[in-house]
Amino acid sequence: MIDDAVAANATLADGYDPARGGRPAPKMAIVTCADPRLSGILPLLGLAEADVDMIRNVGTVVDDDVIRSLVISTQVLRTKEIMIINHNGCGLTTFTDADLEQRLRDETGRLPIAPARFYAFTDAEANTREQVAKVRQHPWIPAEVPVRGFVFDVDTGRLSEVPPADPPR
Ligand code: ZN
Repeated sequence: MIDDAVAANATLADGYDPARGGRPAPKMAIVTCADPRLSGILPLLGLAEADVDMIRNVGTVVDDDVIRSLVISTQVLRTKEIMIINHNGCGLTTFTDADLEQRLRDETGRLPIAPARFYAFTDAEANTREQVAKVRQHPWIPAEVPVRGFVFDVDTGRLSEVPPADPPR
């Protein structure tokens, strides 16, 4: 498929608009899953590609690398809002970290030091709330930037907002 993609690019790029190579000026950041079912989400949100800094990984996990991207997004590109979009039926709900690690150790006979975690989860809403909190509490994410969490239903195409956790007393 890679060879096909490279060959296709040679002709498909003929219709490329050079204006797309201008300096990026996204207005918001979206953190979502790498799952292909999330790839077409922007039209469902009425958002233009150019307006969104898309940050994706398997499981919509706010890890060190997503924080790195969000700090740059908000502090360098000056995006003004952050949306975190998890979804139902995520692959990360189909195993536990311990089970997958054991399987890979058994199958390969190797014990690498990374990844330290796979971030498997069971409840998309609870997991989203946790990811929102990790972003909200980061000292380099500007306090005036709203951080809101959602679960995307891959069966209906609809978003539901995840209410934030109650503040600690
Ligand atoms: Zn997923």
